This record gives sequence, C-alpha cells and structure tokens, in this order.
Amino acid sequence: MSRVIGIDLGTTNSCVSVVENDKPVIIPSATGATTTPSIVAFTKNGERLVGEAAARQAVTNPERTIESVKRHMGSEWSARIDGKEYKPQTISAMILMQLKKDAEQFLGEEVTEAVITVPAYFNDIQRQATKDAGRIAGLNVKRIINEPTSAALSYGLNHGEPQKVMVYDLGGGTFDVSIIEIGEGIIEVLATSGNNHLGGDDFDERLVQEIVRRFKEKTRVDLSKDFAAMQRIREAAERAKKELSTSDTTHIMQPFITQVKGEALHLDMVITRQEFEAMISDLIQKTEDPVRNALNDAHISPSQLGRVLLVGGSTRVPAVQRKVREMTGKEPSRNINPDECVAKGAAILGSTLQGRGLVAAGTGQDLLLLDVTPLSLSIETVGGVATRIVQRNTTLPARYSQIFSTAAPYQRNVDIHVLQGERPMARDNKTIGKFRLKGIKPAPAGVPQIEVTFDIDANGILKVSARDLDTGREQSITITADDRMSDMEIQQAMQDAQNYASQDKVRKDAIEMLGEANKLLVRTERCVKNAGKLLDKAVKKQVKADTAKLQKLVAKCRLDRVDENQLAEIRSAKEQLERSAGDILTQYDGGQQ
Ligand code: AMP
Repeated sequence: MSRVIGIDLGTTNSCVSVVENDKPVIIPSATGATTTPSIVAFTKNGERLVGEAAARQAVTNPERTIESVKRHMGSEWSARIDGKEYKPQTISAMILMQLKKDAEQFLGEEVTEAVITVPAYFNDIQRQATKDAGRIAGLNVKRIINEPTSAALSYGLNHGEPQKVMVYDLGGGTFDVSIIEIGEGIIEVLATSGNNHLGGDDFDERLVQEIVRRFKEKTRVDLSKDFAAMQRIREAAERAKKELSTSDTTHIMQPFITQVKGEALHLDMVITRQEFEAMISDLIQKTEDPVRNALNDAHISPSQLGRVLLVGGSTRVPAVQRKVREMTGKEPSRNINPDECVAKGAAILGSTLQGRGLVAAGTGQDLLLLDVTPLSLSIETVGGVATRIVQRNTTLPARYSQIFSTAAPYQRNVDIHVLQGERPMARDNKTIGKFRLKGIKPAPAGVPQIEVTFDIDANGILKVSARDLDTGREQSITITADDRMSDMEIQQAMQDAQNYASQDKVRKDAIEMLGEANKLLVRTERCVKNAGKLLDKAVKKQVKADTAKLQKLVAKCRLDRVDENQLAEIRSAKEQLERSAGDILTQYDGGQQ
C-alpha cells in the first residue's frame, strides 16, 4: 500500500512529511531544504520552474513568476503567460507535483495519496479548489484538514488531557490565529481570526528601509532606485533578520554595492536586535486584535487556554514570542519546528487514515476532526430572501434538510441558488452554486414538497441535493458555481499536467543524449587525428559522413522543441557513428575517454 504524505501547502513556503517508523519526518526538497518556496515560473524557452529554482529568478523575471497563489484559491483570478491561462488550482498543482516528486525520490516508491492542509477560515470553494489541485497533480486527496488542527496533531495533543489550545501562526505573508478544543478523540475549531497581509516579509521590508536610510545618511547615495543593489539588500535583510532571532547583533556586509564617480561603495553596518525590534514593534502589535477576537469568539479568557502553539517561520523572532507570552500569560510550546509542524500533523493523519493506528502515541483509536462552517449557508427563496439552512460555526460533518415548495402554479422546475454569508438578502451573499430541479409533478403553487439537503463532509466540502417528495424523484445534482473548476476543466488540467510530465522527460533525455553525442564527436575527431595516415580510406570516409550527420542533428536540436522522434534520430546517428568509428576509438584514443 502506497504511503500517504502530509502536505502543508503554504502561501510562501510548502512542506511535505511522511510517517516513517511511527514518526513523522520531513521530506527534503531536491535542493536539500526542509521547505519549498510556493513559487512557479515559466522561462522564455518554455521551461517550468518550481520552488527554489523559481524563487532564484523571480526578481529578473517577475511577469512570468507566480507567487502567493494561495491567496487566490477559489477565486476567478488567473495568470496569462504565453497565451495560456493558468487558474490557481493549476499553479498549486504544479507545486504539489514537485512535492510529490520529492516524496517519491525520498521514499523510492510512487506516491498517490495525500492529506493537504488549509487555513481554518477557507470556505467550501477554497477547500474544493485545493482538492482539485491535488487531483490535477495526480494525488488522491484523502482529507483536507485545517492547519491549526494539524499543528495540534503534530504535538500529539489529541492524546493528552482535554483542553483548549491557541495556535498562533505567523508566516511570510499571513497571520492566522485559531482557538481549538481538544477532547476525547475529537478536535474542534472554535474560532479563527487573522490578517491576510501580515508576516515576515513585512519585517524584511522594514529592515530594507532602514538599511537604505542609513546608507543614504552616510554616503548621500539613494540605493532605492538601484535594482541590483536592492535585490542584494533584500536578501541580506532576510538573512540578518534570521540571525537576530538567535544573536543580539548582526553585521550586514555587502561589498561593492554601488559606484559613485568610479569609486566603489560598500555596505557595512551593524544592526542590533533591540533596533530591529523597535522597527517591527507596530507590526507585532497588529496581531493583538485578531488574538483578542479569536478568544472572544470562542468565549474564553486567556487563562482558560491549556497550551499555546507557535506555527510559521516568523514565530522564531524572540519579540513575537514575548508578545504571545504577554497576551496569553503562557509559555508557548515550540519544541516542534514551527515551519514543519503543520505538515507533520497532516502526515500523522494520513498514516492514521491508512489504518496504521495513531502514531506518536500509538493508541490506534480513530480520530474525529471536528471543524466548523465559517459562514452560514442558505438558499434563495421568494422575494430574493436568503433562507438559512446551515448556521455559521456549525460543527462538521453536518447534514441539514428543509422542505420547500413552488411559488407559481403548475411550476415544473425549481432553481436552487446556494449562498454563503450572513446577510438576509440573497444578492448580498456569495453565490456558491446554482442548479435546477426539473420534472416536478404539475400542481398548484405551494403543493409540491421539495426537500433540500445540505451535506457537509468532514473535509468541509458541501453537497446540495433536492428531492421531489411527491414523486420520490431525486435528481442528480452538482453544484456548478463559476468559481469552481468543472470536471471537464479538471480533466483538461490533468491532461496538461501529464503532457508537461512527458515533455519534461523528453527534455531531460535530450540533454543527456546531446551531452553524450558531443563527447563522442570530440573523441572521434581526436582519434581520427591521432590515426593520421594509418586510417583506412573507406573507414575514414564512412566516419566522416556519420560525424557530419550527427553534428547536423545535434546543431538542429532545440531543447524547447525537442520531441521523441528527433531524440530517436539523434540516438540512431550516434549509434551509427559508434559502430563506424568503433575500432578507431579503441585503437587511437591514447588512453583518454
Ligand atoms: P513560513 O511561511 O511559515 O514558511 O514562514 C516564512 C517566514 O518565516 C519568512 O518570512 C522567513 O523569513 C521567516 N523565518 C524563517 N526562519 C526565521 C528565523 N530563524 N527568524 C525569523 N524569521 C524567520
């Protein structure tokens, strides 16, 4: 049975984990890192880059680089590159494919199943879009799980005392805080809050501004318009920030940062932790309101919290930890790496779903994850009213039914308009689906009985169905909100993903083949020269012809367009030259390869 991987599909970085010998371990990326930047880029020659490789070229290729796609999940947003439209699901699928590939490399086996995490506030469409991204990437998504719930699993909290826990998650670009309740085999999200545009990137920006200001003060040179210098400063600022998490001072040294009248200027300054903390104190302060809101929504005071968990790379900043301590009066738990605990929790759940028993504590008991609907769900009824079927904050999984009737005499069809939101009128809420129940038995208005059922599964994914109770006829109904990808679109995206995979393979093979062909051509030329007059005329003629043919094919081959046929042609020309030059190569190579 193939293993289930746990994926933290983050806004800035993603992380993947798997359970090995009953413990979740982080799967390293191709470059050996524990996290992969959630970045996708397309080079001018049609190559697709994901992760570290995409991050490295992001500044020089911004219009072909896509970052923070998670912010657009479930929306109409799309990126247009080389005339092709990419939806958020498709871009996310590319990141997932990379993580899948890294996992396969690490495990030495095919990986087809995953648990993927999403923020607790993600709505149905955003969850569905995440699931679709998994499908496009060739993954059977066994569960979509809330990030704070996943963090709690990684700490094994589901095996301890029942308690309420705060999960404080400060990443690169987002801040989320959740209050969860852990009971006997149950984890429930009680409340969530946050700020979608607050994180470590803002800390970096403050440092960059300070570096530019100090440099200007000292040299009168404004680096802010110097593209290359700013790029170096940004990287140096992030490094300095990380260093200040463990040291009291950091030395920023960037030689030859710019030139003035032919004279090189160097960036050389020391920043203390105290200075850095002063620069970011208002940003850290901004986490206070969401924390208070989450506690209020959960109807608890900080003293009722059993634990506080830190998640996200930016919680490594000591001033952030101090703030959490000050707000909650608790020492936050941070014995699990904050950038890894979400993925590890997902891996633990994946292993549990596979019936491997619950790792970490090994109880083997089933775990029920109870989440809540972030907003109310309704349908539109007469007069454009939003009639509520599922209340906000209802615990999942949930199933609610209500009976409706027709508004006009002898009405044959009813349109069901599914809405999400708290407003009383349909038009003020978000449409998340529309469908038509056809073939109702003709009757006066108000006579037919139509049962509408909302079914929300443990992943928070919603299915709406309608049944004419008179005829017993239940129509097969799917939600076709424009925001969602249709099955056909998903199929198309899966096909594209597969096309990419085979194209990538041909390219990889071509690079190898061209390398070998070039080596052979150089070697043959050297041996022909070494043999000189000793060479048989007929052999020489044949080798010359075969060399010319291979040279021509190699020169013609373009990596962005190469196909299987061209590759086969080069392979056969190479083999032909190996045959005709075989003897010369063994006799006249002077021991060289
Ligand atoms: P995440 O999105 O959870 O991966 O968090 C990424 C953010 O954490 C980025 O802004 C990083 O610069 C930041 N980060 C990672 N390590 C550290 C560290 N040691 N000190 C401060 N910030 C860090």
